[in-house]
Formats: sequence, C-alpha cells, structure tokens
Amino acid sequence: MRTLASRELELIRSQFAFPLRDRIVTNNAASTQPPLAVFELLRDLSETYENVHRGQSDASVRTTEMFEASFDTIATWINAASRRTLSMHRSTTEAINAAMYSLMADFRDGDNIVTTLMEHNSNYVPWHALCREILPRFGRRVECRLAQFDHETGELDLDHLASLVDSRTKLVCCTGGSNFLGTKPPLATVRAIADASAYPQPDGRRGALLLIDAAQLFASSRVDVERLDADFVAFSFHKLLAPFGVGVLYAKEALRATLPPFLYGGDMIAEGRVFPDRVEYNELPWKFSAGTPNILGVIASAQTLRLIVDMVGADAERAWFRTDDPLSPDAVDAAMEIVAGHAASLTHRAMAGLASIDGLRIYGPAAGAARTPLVAFNVDGHSPFDIARALNAQGVESRAACHCATLAHHDLGIDPPASCRVSFALYNSPEDVDRAVDAVRDAVGQSFRSRPIPSALQHSVEDVERV
Ligand code: PMP
Repeated sequence: MRTLASRELELIRSQFAFPLRDRIVTNNAASTQPPLAVFELLRDLSETYENVHRGQSDASVRTTEMFEASFDTIATWINAASRRTLSMHRSTTEAINAAMYSLMADFRDGDNIVTTLMEHNSNYVPWHALCREILPRFGRRVECRLAQFDHETGELDLDHLASLVDSRTKLVCCTGGSNFLGTKPPLATVRAIADASAYPQPDGRRGALLLIDAAQLFASSRVDVERLDADFVAFSFHKLLAPFGVGVLYAKEALRATLPPFLYGGDMIAEGRVFPDRVEYNELPWKFSAGTPNILGVIASAQTLRLIVDMVGADAERAWFRTDDPLSPDAVDAAMEIVAGHAASLTHRAMAGLASIDGLRIYGPAAGAARTPLVAFNVDGHSPFDIARALNAQGVESRAACHCATLAHHDLGIDPPASCRVSFALYNSPEDVDRAVDAVRDAVGQSFRSRPIPSALQHSVEDVERV
C-alpha cells in the first residue's frame, strides 16, 4: 500500500484554506473540509447556472449534461452497474429515510428488522420509528431487533446477529464503519447472515434485504457495491472533502424498478404522462429525483471525487477534475488505496500516542485491527466536553458527544453518554496527530510523555508507516 510522502502531503494541504488559519482539523468523521478548487468550480458554474431537465437554453443543456455525468462518476466510484441505481438526497440520514419510506408499505404484520447496537442514530431511529410509530398506525406489528457488540474488542457479535435473523426478517441494517467505535463489521458475513433468512420478498426472492450505512466507510475505503452485494448503501459526500448537502442512496436496479418513490412531484414523472386517473413514472434514476435537486451540490460532489484522484497522484496519465470523461475504476482504486493507507497510518499514530496517557480508555478495536480513521476515548475523572474545549483552546478541533451512537454509549455504560473523538482525513499530517495527542495530555494535566508509548503499539505505527 502506497502512503504519502511529506512533500506530497504538503502539496495536498496547500490546496485547502484551513491550514492558513493554523487549524488542526481533527473532527473529520463529522465533516471534512473542501478543497479551494471546488469552491472555484462553484463560482465558475455561476456563469452557466440553470436548472436541469427544464429548459432548452445552452446553459440548461450544459448544466443537465454535467449533472447527469455526475451520476456516472458516482456510479463508477462505488462500482455500481449504472447511474440507474442512484438517488441523491441531502445526507446519509435522508438517504436511509428514503429507503425506509420506499420499503414501508411492503412490511407485513409479524415481520422484523435486525440492526445493531453500534449504529449511528440515522440507521436506528428511522427503523425504530417505523416499527413503533408508523406501522402500528396501519395495524402492523413489526419488531426492531438489535445485535450486540463485544465491549472489549468493539467487534459486532456475529453469532448474536445470526440468532436474531429468522424467516420473518425482511431487512438487516448494518453500519459499514462505526463513527464511534471505529469497527468495520465483516460485511460479507453480514450479507450471508441476511441471505440465511427465508423471508419471501415481493419479487419472489428469498432472504432479507441488506442496507449498509457507509457514511464512514465511504470516507476512508473504496466502497464496491457489487462486491458488497448490498441491496441499499447510503453515504454522504461531506465526509469525503465535498461541500455539505448531498447524500446518496444506492439501491439494486431491480429494487429501484419496483419500489415506490420516496418523493412525488415534478421530473419524476414520464414527460406528459400524468392523468386524472393515473401517473406514469420517469425512467431510472429520475423516478427517484422529484423536484429541483441540489444541482450544484451533486456536480461539486462528483468533481471532488475526480479531484481526489488528481490530488493524490493516482493516475500518472492524466487529470480528471473539471472533465466529464468516464472515470477509470483503476484510478479510483488507486486513489482510495492511498487515502485509506494515509488515514490508517494517522489512526495508528493517534492510538499509540493516546494509549500512553494514564487513565485513557480507547473504545473499539485494538490498534492493528481494521478501523475507520477515528479514535474515541474517555479519561478517568475528566469530562470529555472539558477535554474537547481544552483541545480547542490549543487549536485542535475534536468532538465530545455521543456522536449519535447513543445506543453504543449506553450499552457500554458510559454515563453521561459521551466520549471525545479525533478523526482524520487525507490532509492531516503526523504533526496534527501529535499536536492532538499532546493537547489531550495537557488537558488531563499529565506532563509531556509521562509514560512511554507501549512497545507493541510502537511497532504497529512503524509497520504502517513502512507499508
Ligand atoms: N451514519 C454514520 C455512521 C455517520 O457517521 C453519520 C454522520 N456522523 C451519519 C450516518 C449521518 O450522516 P449525515 O450527517 O450525512 O446524515
């Protein structure tokens, strides 16, 4: 795995505005910072600003081309068969709600949904609400079941998950990467567990549907929906260097073809095919694109993906930013390998440094195990909120909260349900990590390097840096 040399990292950092303000941006699991070139692109788009699918002007036609090409870029990025599998939303949260509303009418009395205790509230509360609030109003009782995780290792308890799935399990919902524990559940096994349900789906297929919340996974790995074989995958671009406002729901084309839309209105109907007694829907993917979409956001998101390939030098042959050319899957692979390697090396460094602080407990898998690039922790006798504020006073941006992983905090008995979290992105440097670790050490009143880094952890840092 190729990691970034310090000169390469400097060049990457020079493409962002925040380093000029001496910000140590380590709250990337919440949102990342967009490159300056993306804001320049948005400014330039103001010259041809127009709606899509709604005009004959050159401006509208060109904007439509760019908007539609963005779907293709995103499809290639996640190795989806085509743009027909995609719908654009405001966020991962809205994407998961879109899946919920599209599936809602299909649930039968006595069905169940299986999800996990390590989910972000976005992948629990909609299913809880469906089971407890929405379906009971239609006289249907559907149970929401929660799989446990190991409190020490942070790993999903696959046996427990499997024990919850039965012939009435219509849907399994699982995170691809926890935003609190950092755990990356083995999704192939989760797929097999979902398949083991004999649930008769409306299309005749047997087995539970699988929805993956890939909000964190997408930010730090190549998400390959074909390989995951998931029925739904949700993620958002503000976690991978794009501006706020665009989330994606991938759904298998066969599902898209039969499921009802989440939103009804303009552009999702076939041109001229609305009558008092019937309405015919537009072809995919526009059937799931009612109303004026976040056009600039979608274009900026897809172009940010292209810019990432250029920024990390994943394709020596050419530049991809500001073009609509079909993106090379190999370039995407190479780019995300570099992003993943860099983020993993920073995460190891942070874990090694934090582990040397007395009374500090890191949640989730041990150093060396697969992890999303974040570290959540608590320090005995210290409020995580005080730590985060003390970090901020030193220019280190972290987050203290339950990170919307409320169930997991309760399950671990963390009272109040909160932890402090630092999380890393492509532009973070080893110095950022060291400043964050030193700031935590200061915040809890321990002198600099009061305890040496345990040698086992030192190894893993060096190993990661070598690869
Ligand atoms: N799921 C996970 C795992 C997340 O980390 C987040 C964001 N913290 C979300 C869902 C929600 O994402 P969004 O803010 O884009 O709705």
